[in-house]
Amino acid sequence: MATTSELRTIEHHIGGQATAGEGARRSTVWDPATGAPQAEVALATTADVDRAVGAAKAAFESWGDVSIAKRTRIMFAFRQLVDSHVDELARIVSSEHGKVFDDAKGEVVRGLEVVEFACGLPQLLKGEFSDQVSTAVDAHSFRQPLGVCAGITPFNFPVMVPMWMHPVAIACGNTFVLKPSERDPSASGLIAELYAEAGLPEGVFNVVHGDKEAVDALLDHPDVAAVSFVGSTPIAKYVHGRASAAGKRVQALGGAKNHAVVMPDADLEFASDHLIAAGFGSAGQRCMAISVAVAVGEAADGLVEHLERKAREVRVGAGSDPESEMGPVVTPEARERVTGYIEEGVEAGAVAVVDGRELEVEGEGFFVGPTLFDRVETNMSIYRDEIFGPVLAIIRVDTLDDAIRLINETAFANGTAIFTSSGGAARKFQREVEVGMIGVNVPIPVPMAYHSFGGWKDSLFGDHHIHGPEGFRFYTRAKAVTTRWPAEKDIGAEMHFPTAN
Ligand code: NAD
Repeated sequence: MATTSELRTIEHHIGGQATAGEGARRSTVWDPATGAPQAEVALATTADVDRAVGAAKAAFESWGDVSIAKRTRIMFAFRQLVDSHVDELARIVSSEHGKVFDDAKGEVVRGLEVVEFACGLPQLLKGEFSDQVSTAVDAHSFRQPLGVCAGITPFNFPVMVPMWMHPVAIACGNTFVLKPSERDPSASGLIAELYAEAGLPEGVFNVVHGDKEAVDALLDHPDVAAVSFVGSTPIAKYVHGRASAAGKRVQALGGAKNHAVVMPDADLEFASDHLIAAGFGSAGQRCMAISVAVAVGEAADGLVEHLERKAREVRVGAGSDPESEMGPVVTPEARERVTGYIEEGVEAGAVAVVDGRELEVEGEGFFVGPTLFDRVETNMSIYRDEIFGPVLAIIRVDTLDDAIRLINETAFANGTAIFTSSGGAARKFQREVEVGMIGVNVPIPVPMAYHSFGGWKDSLFGDHHIHGPEGFRFYTRAKAVTTRWPAEKDIGAEMHFPTAN
């Protein structure tokens, strides 16, 4: 095993330069498949953050004025470079996060789609014009960038989630400081290099690594105009409160506990295949993972049977092994948290149909096997809390109304799904359920880049969903201009409040 001093240091990218910054603090980046440390990431001090914001502020002076044509060309060049580095980015993600290579590739491609959407900036930034709103008076409105925008992102999608933010912010004419997760930080360094190669001026995209100190420095910095956050609910709430109090525009996306309803008329083979993929893909570490299956009426027994068989068939192993379908969880602490919840579920009386603690994988990697609980009750911690691991809970209810009530009573409201062959049931579900993103026979309904992504209730704090049209609104502010070019014969000013004539 490498000793601490032999490990490479992952550096910040500030104003076009890679730097370890001023601070001496470091955090370990693991290889979750082997359980060995593979690098150390520099943790930014408040002074490092100040330098990054300073570089972004200086770059905004000119970037905000760069023509739409030039910005579009740079975004297209960046798009090409990301496309030609999909495998490299996926390998980095897989090695630090632990997810299997194809899954990592999937997240890079979903991120790339946001870059492609952002390439449409000439269309998306078009203003509106009204001719002759009053005699010889015209009106137009248009949107301008905000300035320096900050992004604070979670470990579970180290490429895709930052890409929900920076391509849109930068396309709009802002500059950006990204604070990625300290657990899998390397992909962000490569993204900074690709932006530079695409011709993005220095200082427009910066990366500072770090923890609470770096986050707080961004939230408090007077030159940061807007903050986009994605992570757990307690931190999302905190970020939203603190940055809002500092007068910034904020969108803070939080955690989830996504329910999938399985109706008695659903095709159980199809539903169980998809529930296994949605519950255990990426070891359950997705904000859109399904962690609760709500079995309605007669669906229950058959569903449990199918799920048990399929959960036992999931091939668990290193993310780099093409045979693996599910990798380890991200850190030793994550494994401890997940196995702790499994213990609590058993103690609370839920039926552990498959107990992931029994799975053995050679070596010291942070593996937990797929876990399936039946007869889960709403007062159990395995139901109430976001476990963020490969644990699928089954709750049995009598009717669709009961299922909808159950979902609407939970605090999280990110995604949900229904498996049914009834259009009527699906329509009722999508109209009555209080959740931001809904799938009909689609378990992970992550909106495409040209729609916006966001949950309700404790899954999102702020007014705007992320990327898509709402992203363009979040990263710009409106101006309305009323214009008159007076000719000699025009009459003079009037003292009353102006009305059209
Ligand atoms: P996290 O909340 O621990 O960390 C997110 C970010 O906040 C990281 O950059 C981290 O460094 C920073 N942070 C952590 N503690 C902090 C503190 N005390 N003060 C200031 N900053 C702090 O989340 P995570 O474990 O990296 O990611 C998993 C969580 O993210 C899950 O809850 C998951 O549901 C959520 N998530 C949500 C979405 C969504 O779209 N709603 C998407 C992905 C992940």
